[in-house]
Amino acid sequence: MNKAVFKLLVDPLKQRPKVFLIAIATLLVATAAEVAGPFLVKIFIDDYLVPGNYASHLIATLAAVYVATVVVSGIGSYIQFRLFSGIALRIIADLRKKVFAHVLSLPMRWHDTSISGQTLSRITNDTESLLELYVSFLSSILTGLVLIIGILIGMALLDVQLMLVALGMIPAVLVLVYVYQKFSGKAVADVRARRAEQNVHISEAINGMSVLQAMHQTQRYGDAFSKVNEGQYDARMRIIRTSGLFLRPAMDMISTTVLATMILVFGFDVIGGVAEVGVLYAFVMYLGRFSEPLIEITQRFSLFQTAMVAGERVYNLLQQTAEDEGKDEQPIQDASITINQLTFAYKADRTVLHNLDIDIPQGKFIGLVGRTGSGKSTLLNLLLGHYPVQPGQIMIDGRPLNSLSEANRTQSIGLIPQEPFIKVGTLRENLVMDRDISEASLQKAIDQAQLRPLVNQLANGLDTELGEGGSDLSTGQRQLIAMARALAAEPKVLLLDEATASLDSQTEMLIQQALDAIKGEVTLIVVAHRLSTIRQADEIILLADGHIAERGLHQDLLTIPNGRYAKLYQYQAEEVELSA
Ligand code: ATP
Ligand code: MG
Repeated sequence: MNKAVFKLLVDPLKQRPKVFLIAIATLLVATAAEVAGPFLVKIFIDDYLVPGNYASHLIATLAAVYVATVVVSGIGSYIQFRLFSGIALRIIADLRKKVFAHVLSLPMRWHDTSISGQTLSRITNDTESLLELYVSFLSSILTGLVLIIGILIGMALLDVQLMLVALGMIPAVLVLVYVYQKFSGKAVADVRARRAEQNVHISEAINGMSVLQAMHQTQRYGDAFSKVNEGQYDARMRIIRTSGLFLRPAMDMISTTVLATMILVFGFDVIGGVAEVGVLYAFVMYLGRFSEPLIEITQRFSLFQTAMVAGERVYNLLQQTAEDEGKDEQPIQDASITINQLTFAYKADRTVLHNLDIDIPQGKFIGLVGRTGSGKSTLLNLLLGHYPVQPGQIMIDGRPLNSLSEANRTQSIGLIPQEPFIKVGTLRENLVMDRDISEASLQKAIDQAQLRPLVNQLANGLDTELGEGGSDLSTGQRQLIAMARALAAEPKVLLLDEATASLDSQTEMLIQQALDAIKGEVTLIVVAHRLSTIRQADEIILLADGHIAERGLHQDLLTIPNGRYAKLYQYQAEEVELSA
């Protein structure tokens, strides 16, 4: 077994020594009671029944003890099953929480390259198979092993020779399991892989449903899914065939062989005159209970394989390290930003930003323009601290951005993203986002962001439940919500990424006025395709393929002969003229 996975599974057990020990103790008592049963029957047969000794009070005592063992083993089994299952469920619930919290803390860099369906599968399916392993290990395998050992001890006390015959069953079963694993192992791994694949298909289809339907891709997606589904069916059937063919009948054969050998050995004892009928009876009883846990254990072995794979994946996910967090809690004061020689690449082989130098004094308004893919959103991502910057530097307030704690950063730097995110919940929850925001700031932000008409229009105002992902809102309405959300925290730096692209001109103008009003207190960086939005900027920066191609005031940029900005402006002016 992989040492790391072992640690993942065993560590939580160590943290609950008390419950675990109580469960083990209960298990031992229950097993002892169960093993005692046949022993008592043997005493009854050999000491009372066969010699014709009918001492009634002794027999009555024997019967009472027998009943007691049945009761104790019954209650004990129930308690230990509950305790073990409880431990297993608790451990997995904790693990799931831990994995999800970990995923939330992983840097954007990690999320960029991971497939969401697979991550989903890690959190749900993989922890589920670890749960199965735990439950079956604790309540079946451990119990089974203890019972087997208990029965062997019981047998040894009765007749060592016969016990050795029964012991022969164990290597036979081990060989059987080995062969079984050889045949079923690949199928088991297949089932796993297919299930993860299915998850990827499903989450991709659900996320892109409107596009799939619009492009008539549903049939194709359905077909691809059913192929994976059929593959899973086949793999599962292969498992059933091997286990059905193999395990039960083969097991029965082994146990019948052992029984026959026992009777043979017992027969020689009879001839030798040393046999006691009660012993044979007890052995037959024991043997019946012996094969059950053995079968149980062997059948659980496929679980063991899948759980190992799952455990390894969960472990690897947990090994992904979160970004080293800055420690600086000193709040940002005046929010001046200095970007020094900043170069950045998502992937080593493709540089997205080249050697940027930008100086933004406090309260200034910077406009960012540039073609699709020129690196505007990337620059904003870096200003949010989503990615480590290297080489180069981003300083805020004269302090390196990454030295600030995450809480400090998110408190002071607000983003209104290109694609607004709406979470499941009420409008109020979407605006407050579990932050510490006063009602006054909230109301002010709603007015600034021109969200008031929407609030009034909704049936329950701020407490209206929004559809998943804001699917019952227009794109412009989602942008207004994102804007109010950012403004509510009263940030020192506000980043707008095409935040007004989907708004009508009038609403945009009102927002423009609101931004003008906070200008001076808040450092603004605004990405815009519509140049009218950034005309008033203190500096306009035009990015081309990650380089700063032009920079300056609106009027100055217009005077550059053959300048890109001037051309862009001209196009848009013509467009406006045309539409007029
Ligand atoms: P738009 O105007 O379309 O929003 P943009 O200027 O915001 O464009 P960016 O999103 O910054 O462009 O992308 C700049 C470049 O970085 C693009 O070439 C894009 O392919 C690449 N890129 C963006 N995000 C990632 C990512 N998460 N991983 C890898 N490459 C990325
Ligand atoms: Mg962008």
